[in-house]
Amino acid sequence: MTEVSRDRPPHTGSELADLSGIGTQLAARLKALGLVREIDLLLHQPLRYEDRTRLTRLDRIRPGELVQVEGRIAHSEIRRARKRMLIAVLADDHGQILLRFFHFFPSQQKLLSAGNRVRCYGEVRFGREGFELIHPQCQHIDDRGRPALPTRLSPIYPTTAGLAQYRLGRLIADALARAASEQWPLPDPLGAWKDFPDLLNALVEMHQPSPDADLAALIDGHHPAIRRLAIEELLAHHLALARVNQARERQRASRLKDKNQLRKRLLKGLPFKPTAAQTRVSAEIAADLAAERPMRRLLQGDVGSGKTLVAALAMLTAVGAGRQAALVAPTEILAEQHYRTFSDWFEPLGIEPVWLAGKVKGKARTAVLKALAEGAPVAIGTHALFQSGVSFSDLALVVVDEQHRFGVHQRLALADKGRQGEHLPHQLVMTATPIPRTLAMTAYAGLDVSIIDELPPGRQPVTTVVMGEDKRERLIERIRVALKDGRQAYWVCPLIAESEQLEAEAAETTSETLKAQLPDFRIGLIHGRMKPAEKQEVMSEFVSGRIRLLVATTVIEVGVDVPNASLMIIENAERLGLSQLHQLRGRVGRGSDQSACVLLYKPPLGEIAKARLEVMRSTTDGFVIAEKDLELRGPGEVLGTRQTGMLRFRIADLARDADCFDQVKELAGRIDRPGADVLIERWIGPAEAFVEV
Ligand code: ADP
Ligand code: MG
Repeated sequence: MTEVSRDRPPHTGSELADLSGIGTQLAARLKALGLVREIDLLLHQPLRYEDRTRLTRLDRIRPGELVQVEGRIAHSEIRRARKRMLIAVLADDHGQILLRFFHFFPSQQKLLSAGNRVRCYGEVRFGREGFELIHPQCQHIDDRGRPALPTRLSPIYPTTAGLAQYRLGRLIADALARAASEQWPLPDPLGAWKDFPDLLNALVEMHQPSPDADLAALIDGHHPAIRRLAIEELLAHHLALARVNQARERQRASRLKDKNQLRKRLLKGLPFKPTAAQTRVSAEIAADLAAERPMRRLLQGDVGSGKTLVAALAMLTAVGAGRQAALVAPTEILAEQHYRTFSDWFEPLGIEPVWLAGKVKGKARTAVLKALAEGAPVAIGTHALFQSGVSFSDLALVVVDEQHRFGVHQRLALADKGRQGEHLPHQLVMTATPIPRTLAMTAYAGLDVSIIDELPPGRQPVTTVVMGEDKRERLIERIRVALKDGRQAYWVCPLIAESEQLEAEAAETTSETLKAQLPDFRIGLIHGRMKPAEKQEVMSEFVSGRIRLLVATTVIEVGVDVPNASLMIIENAERLGLSQLHQLRGRVGRGSDQSACVLLYKPPLGEIAKARLEVMRSTTDGFVIAEKDLELRGPGEVLGTRQTGMLRFRIADLARDADCFDQVKELAGRIDRPGADVLIERWIGPAEAFVEV
């Protein structure tokens, strides 16, 4: 891949991290929201809006209403009932209302001292002491310089822990003001058409709608301003895809044929026969590899469907043709597992895989780099294989496992290692995240798709139980019985906070508690903050059965294969995405024992959370789960984390905007190349990346 230049075109603005006033911590939090460049701020769609353009008189408020009120604090006190709380009474010329705070800072206490004038926003409730606002947002009003009420509605944005709504709102409002004043010109190749506003007006209407705007339409996306932006976004993706396809026409690759019968020899040595689905997709791949266009194939197959064998057969085709093949996995644990599997499978054929991860250093690393440069046939590793300093002598096939964890750019970087002029290596990307058909086309621009739609024989479907945390005691008994029976179990503590550190601590605490509750069994712990050697030690003890119960963070999510583990407990299940739960659940049900998965939640459970856990309980079909996830959460989530770099619609929604596709095609015909560059840069990123895929 050509180095993507950091000189971004001026219309996408600076990198936020480079702006004065944005420190590294703030920049990291913005990045977690997908906000990296100034333009990203403008494309960040509000979740909802608040009407702060009016004040409501205190004799006209009704329970359930969101209101903004203003008055003087008549009285305030700290009450020590069952809980310590701050109570203040706010009065205007017409009535009064109680303000109640269960958590408060000294600054709030000061703000709410008697005599102060304040403006509050919150939801009216009717309590024992009359009307009240619980935790309203309050602003001090200086009698001398009373701030005017806003004339537009106030946006509320999706944000993340540690990034306050007002801070994010301020950044976006500033960016919008700069664009609106033309200090920061935004090129607008589409302009206004039909009933649709031009870009700037659409952005203003999205971020700061006028008080009479159709709020429901703005939120559900049928408002012309939102549609306008969604169409532009879809158009950008359409244009990028067209470039990918054009570029592919020019690319060449070597034809690969397994001249040494390695595939046949591998299959002969295996204790099982490939399923019909494995055989079918392997043939599709072999046909691609025998052609002179570089293969760009996505292999989709549910967890446990046996993608590894398909990858091995593809790699043997390259090796049998006398070339090199590399396999990359997103985590060290998974890469190591592949390394073990491939070593077992390939060594009898006289092929010794080479292992590279970030932690391979010093002499060992030098030896690995030398082997790769001299043509070692098979490399297995993490993204360390992408890095500079690694070079292959004759790389003809790149396999990327669980590819949704990698960005497009990383995938390109590895392909580039095998570039010889216009010749590119073949690529096979594998994922267990089933992509609903509606998404597959757009999500995997320029990839052909093969699907393994069958599990190896003898698998028992996993029974799933949804359980409130209050039933923990009963659960522990159940685990005791299972462990006594010789089974093994996972206990997963997913991200409960933003930091890996806190996640690790939570897992540690849980493992201590479980050790006390289940003293007769060996309990292990694995999390992302452990050293790779420690992780490997724990994993191998679990694989060998010495560790009976493994407490883990979501690091075990992908790929780990321990057939004897037949019980999976997932804490805080209500906080995880369906696809992620599906992945986790896929760790059990790999042996012949009847397996079970317990989804623990913290009651009370909201409606959507309830619906989602019910989906998990009622089906184990990855496609059904993905479709439901799409329905309940939208495409960004289905495709995994936001930083996938694959598909991330900011505003468009494929289901909602499907009726725009014709219009998108028509607009594509009217846009010239510089215009297309502008749109691709704005919505997706550096346009030059899209000629290389
Ligand atoms: P995934 O698609 O999730 O990567 P794996 O490749 O890890 O699945 O396969 C899951 C398990 O099934 C492994 O233990 C593997 O050896 C086994 N397996 C793969 N193919 C078959 C088959 N055709 N028959 C029986 N077992 C198989
Ligand atoms: Mg796998």
